[in-house]
Amino acid sequence: MTSSVAPEADWDLAPGLLDGAKELTLGPEECDLAYWFTSVAQGTLRDRGETGHHKDAVVPDFLKEPGPLREALILEFGFRGLSEEIATRLLAPYVAIAPGVPELEFYATQLIDEARHARVFRNHLVELGMPAKTLLRDIDEMAADYRTRVLDPVVDFTLDIVRDQGDFPGGVAVFAIVIEGVLAPAAELSERKWTPLSPATGEISRGTAIDEIRHLTVASTILKNHIEANPGYRPRLMEILRSGVELWDSIPDREFVIHREELFQKGMAEHADKIGDYEIWPGVRMLDTTPDQRYDMAEQWTDEMAESRMAYMGLPVEVLSSRDSTA
Ligand code: FE
Ligand code: FE
Repeated sequence: MTSSVAPEADWDLAPGLLDGAKELTLGPEECDLAYWFTSVAQGTLRDRGETGHHKDAVVPDFLKEPGPLREALILEFGFRGLSEEIATRLLAPYVAIAPGVPELEFYATQLIDEARHARVFRNHLVELGMPAKTLLRDIDEMAADYRTRVLDPVVDFTLDIVRDQGDFPGGVAVFAIVIEGVLAPAAELSERKWTPLSPATGEISRGTAIDEIRHLTVASTILKNHIEANPGYRPRLMEILRSGVELWDSIPDREFVIHREELFQKGMAEHADKIGDYEIWPGVRMLDTTPDQRYDMAEQWTDEMAESRMAYMGLPVEVLSSRDSTA
């Protein structure tokens, strides 16, 4: 790796997603187009541009055979592939209404990042043996329910703010705090789950997690600067965040996650010999965890991450507490 690659984008030096998102501060001025070409395209993605993993990181044969583990992975990466495609489309109005060149360049790079995530998640299914020819249709069919019940409401909510109302900071808040703030811990969990089972899968998740550190931290800086310069925007921002939390509370994402965690649980037991004493988080063997425990841990990470990001922006974390827990 050349020294011109920023450490947070360097494959071997970048921190984990949660640590990076909690501890790093990056802004749109540093993460511009030149940074992206140098540190991301020629840094993070070096030798991993095509599939999202190094050619030496392989897909094990047992994941190409039918079974619950394969089914869990197909559901997870199929849904994530579709979500990332939708995220890409959603980011187009951010580029269109970016208030300045630094924000424009940053969102142009994030748009490409999400399009790339969609591609590597989707194409991983072909590496697992799904037919390339019908891939898009197969994913659409598999994720139809998830799309209508989980993704569509989020898209409508976001487009109303960023496209219809032309509210750039409001859109930044929705994308980084409401959408990615919840999805990032799920991505972290994915990386930890698949790493001992499939080097290729683990690397794909790792690569997207490195991008995610940038998405979360740069958006926080944009918002922090905006509120400092425009304190009058604060109440509006709080209102958007409250509605965003209300929206998440009304969305049945848990049932989709738990379904594939249950499949993972069955598959994990079948392949226990490959997992051994591997710890999913310090002191806890992955083999000893249950679907609910893993889901709850991702929620706990969401809260921890939100706490430090909100403090950085000078915003009260309580605004993100779900209505269920404050009622
Ligand atoms: Fe992404
Ligand atoms: Fe992202």
